[in-house]
Amino acid sequence: MESIEKKIPFTCPSCKSEHMVTCYEQLGPNKKEEVMSASFLQWDCESCGHKVKLVYPTYYCNIEKEFVVFLRPNASDVSCITEDEKEMFKDFTMRLCKTADTFVEKVRVFEANLNDRAIELLKLITFAKIHVENDTIQDIFFYRRSEHGSLEFTLMYKEDIDGIDIDQAMYQNVLNIVTDELPPLEEDVYCIDLNWAGAQVV
Ligand SMILES: [Zn+2]
Repeated sequence: MESIEKKIPFTCPSCKSEHMVTCYEQLGPNKKEEVMSASFLQWDCESCGHKVKLVYPTYYCNIEKEFVVFLRPNASDVSCITEDEKEMFKDFTMRLCKTADTFVEKVRVFEANLNDRAIELLKLITFAKIHVENDTIQDIFFYRRSEHGSLEFTLMYKEDIDGIDIDQAMYQNVLNIVTDELPPLEEDVYCIDLNWAGAQVV
């Protein structure tokens, strides 16, 4: 599935000049790098250089890998995805993300052929472990699979950003728990994030 662009008029919030900006109705593997680096939503004003992050409803779909990730900023739950949209991606893994950061992360996870339920549980465990030592940690995101097969995560602290490497065996252990102990997901759209992970361990 190719990406579909549209140009929309936009007023720079800084210098008030009018521009046409590129938005995407849908995104596909030909825009994979732009999505995974989050540059697809970055807009730089040609008149004054002001940088704006454009966040709007869109989706990323990879037909070969059979997944679709919907970005619906500030959606309350999965009911924002219509029956028609679900029908369009029948038999695909369907996920809802409510923020640009989690959308980018989810595409990274699925493009790396990882199980997102295992990744969210692994993030929760890692976050909790670090939080005991340093309570200024605020968020954790999957970054990429390293060339040695370990998994790299970005750690967001109150005033700092760091990274952590988690080995493949640890991921495999969590994946086994997901496969053996969690009920399989239905054919539906899910929001699988840290809140979801938290709800699994109570
Ligand atoms: Zn401007």
